Amino acid sequence: MQNNYSKVVLITGASSGIGKATAYTLMEKGFKVYGTSRKIASETTVKAKKGNGFLKMIPLDVCSQESIDNCIKYILKEESSIDILINNAGFGIAGSVEDTSFEEAFKQFDTNFFGVLRMCRAVLPKMREQKNGLIINISSVAGLISIPYQSMYSASKYALEAMTEALRIEVKQFGIKVSMVEPGDTKTGFTAKREYTHNSLNSVYSDKFKKSIKTMERDEQNAPSPKLVVNAILKIINSDNPPIRITAGFSYKILVFLKRLLPSRFVEYVVSKIYS
Ligand code: NDP
Repeated sequence: MQNNYSKVVLITGASSGIGKATAYTLMEKGFKVYGTSRKIASETTVKAKKGNGFLKMIPLDVCSQESIDNCIKYILKEESSIDILINNAGFGIAGSVEDTSFEEAFKQFDTNFFGVLRMCRAVLPKMREQKNGLIINISSVAGLISIPYQSMYSASKYALEAMTEALRIEVKQFGIKVSMVEPGDTKTGFTAKREYTHNSLNSVYSDKFKKSIKTMERDEQNAPSPKLVVNAILKIINSDNPPIRITAGFSYKILVFLKRLLPSRFVEYVVSKIYS
């Protein structure tokens, strides 16, 4: 792979939160960053304060194959390679399992899981041709520990974890590396954009749901900035042999480690004490 400082990076969901912080950090380090948002009609470019790095924001909806095709076509018209894909776009739907319609469950998976699948399938042919590439999927601690009233969000991230582990083995033969970052609570636009299932505020689960949501929102709003997650992404980019996953933040690393060691019933007890 060429020197880091001329690499082309594509980050989905770079208009806010973790994606935006990553895009600006990489631009300042000299990368050619293509960031995406559903909300822009045409491209806009910001240049790094020093060096040749830039951030070009381009339109993309990871739920639309046509939008993905246009995005990849655009980048390959501008650049001769796509070196790094960061699948970051995502959102959360909250509500009990019983209160979740199929359409709501699908909507959650459409962005958080199928969106990543579409993006990987769109970029892999070019990465195989280049005989190198790096894909970083932004998962979640909720992809390792399931959270009540966020079951579809957790399920979409568990599915992402499973796909990422398999993809990593499959594409190694082509010189392509795959890794995940698992953020814990992070202060971003995620909380304000969280959607609720249609009858979550008017159902037999509503009292516990409301308490649980209050805890989640308080924890997210008091959480650290995306810096920890950006540092984990940088560690992967700078590694010759990136790990399968990096859980961002010391306390979450301990939590994930304990989940593997402790009996499942104990983990369930702790999670239900926090959220239910
Ligand atoms: P934000 O809401 O701040 O940012 C989400 C980004 O995703 C936005 O830029 C948004 O862009 C983009 N997006 C959403 N849906 C789509 C779509 N269909 N197509 C393309 N882009 C889309 O949230 P975060 O920065 O917190 O989230 C980033 C990732 O981190 C997500 O995958 C999330 O699951 C994960 N995460 C977040 C945690 C947290 O506590 N914040 C904890 C664990 C994981 P736009 O609306 O402009 O299109």
